[in-house]
Amino acid sequence: MISDDVLKKATVELLKNAVTALPEDINTALKKAYETEEDAIPKMQLKNILDNIELAQTGSLPMCQDTGIHIFYVTFGKDMVISVEDAIRNGLKEATKIIPLRPNAVHPLSRHNPGDNTGLKMPYINYRFSDKDYIEIAVMPKGAGSENMSALAMLTPSQGLSGIKEFALNTIVKAGGKPCPPTIIGMGIGGSADISMKLAKEALLRPINQRNDDSQIAELENELYSAINTLGIGPMGLGGKTTVLGVNIEYAYCHTASLPIAINIQCWAARRAVARIHPDGLIEHISHPKEVSP
Ligand code: SF4
Repeated sequence: MISDDVLKKATVELLKNAVTALPEDINTALKKAYETEEDAIPKMQLKNILDNIELAQTGSLPMCQDTGIHIFYVTFGKDMVISVEDAIRNGLKEATKIIPLRPNAVHPLSRHNPGDNTGLKMPYINYRFSDKDYIEIAVMPKGAGSENMSALAMLTPSQGLSGIKEFALNTIVKAGGKPCPPTIIGMGIGGSADISMKLAKEALLRPINQRNDDSQIAELENELYSAINTLGIGPMGLGGKTTVLGVNIEYAYCHTASLPIAINIQCWAARRAVARIHPDGLIEHISHPKEVSP
């Protein structure tokens, strides 16, 4: 039986990994973008970003002052449905103090801030199930600059693929430099309004060097990646060839009369961390295998 203490420890370690070091696919894409850019301004912006990442990692410090709000994905293995919410909340409170994380979670109207990144439905925990014999916890700290650029459209089916592309490009143009590019675009297509928004965020959990298994969706990911990078928005919105590092799309079947499409943008500080907790209490860090835990 996995104890609350092990789950709390895993939560603190996950948050530490997520906010102080980027997963390898994002690091690689940022370094490649630095090599690709030729003009001085985008090159300088990417150099600043890479230096920032290096300093955060070596100093075990958050890479951005906005350490986000905290979205968790818990995948239960078979026969492993246990209560994890208290352990995750307690782990987040402890991480807020010791890493430290900026206390970002507030009441939406009164703006009351409990000061520990928790509140009603915060952290937000998504639950999933698998046939594995471990629990997997993923965390995605999400800053407001990129989250505020999220968008949803309920297209008509006749608008089809061209409507989807037009909406995606218009959304990125409208966002400009606000989401701290180069960004990763998470898109959800189909389902319903809420399902497509959920899929758009989940798409950001997939490494950017992995394409969707569906060849038509994979083709759309590649096409949008190339098209968006011709817009010239560039690193931090100051111009250049690198506006996005990746485009990830998830989809669901939808009503015959609907075509929902949602976009969730992730900034260059594309923080995510994944750990597996085995029945013997072993915590295996999947996204940050070399990171030192707190
Ligand atoms: S959008 Fe990302 S990089 Fe920009 S301030 Fe927010 S968390 Fe930091």
